[in-house]
Amino acid sequence: MKILIATKNEGKVEEIKALLEDLDLEILTLNKNFPSLKLPPESYLGFEYNALTKARYTALNTGVTAIADDSGLEVDALGGMPGVRSARYAGPDATDEENCTKLLEKMKGIPPERRTARFRCVIALVAPSGRDEETFEGTLEGVIGTEPRGSRGFGYDPIFVMPETGKTLAELSPEEKNRISHRAKALNKLKKRLAERLKQLAK
Ligand code: IMP
Repeated sequence: MKILIATKNEGKVEEIKALLEDLDLEILTLNKNFPSLKLPPESYLGFEYNALTKARYTALNTGVTAIADDSGLEVDALGGMPGVRSARYAGPDATDEENCTKLLEKMKGIPPERRTARFRCVIALVAPSGRDEETFEGTLEGVIGTEPRGSRGFGYDPIFVMPETGKTLAELSPEEKNRISHRAKALNKLKKRLAERLKQLAK
């Protein structure tokens, strides 16, 4: 069974490949196998919509079953913002630091009990027939800190605090983060489903 990972982000490719390596899959990537294919732009309509749009477009244009993801941070006191705007919260070319600074600014004066937030990740699995579509979701609950801490990870990791330990995600090793992250949870659900499909195909 062939699976195409519909992202140009090599970090994500490696993470997904590592998790699926023990399945009997032939894993293709856009950069290596379809370098000229351009993904459709992300909308503000929701994580599931974006993941499905990317996976559908890729599967239909390549003839290979595709997986695509979308993720972001939802802050309760901000009505779920930045959400699907997470990557570009502080502007179209915003850096991670600028996004964190803007979020900390918006959260100024908000008391600890109202600083709850979660990372959400949706992964879509779409067959080229267009009839076979599924999505898998993972979340990670936490609170927004008052200042950045830690130097690992990316995005909002330095200001996302896990209440159980008081540590930010940027203070965890990649292995520790991959055990609990929203992406890992969604990927594990995808993996379970792919394993079932492979079992059925082998019958
Ligand atoms: P995308 O899924 O690549 O579109 O990522 C959207 C944005 O959400 C990223 O640019 C980050 O700002 C944020 N984000 C998603 N996952 C994480 C994470 O694990 N840590 C920190 N920020 C994240």
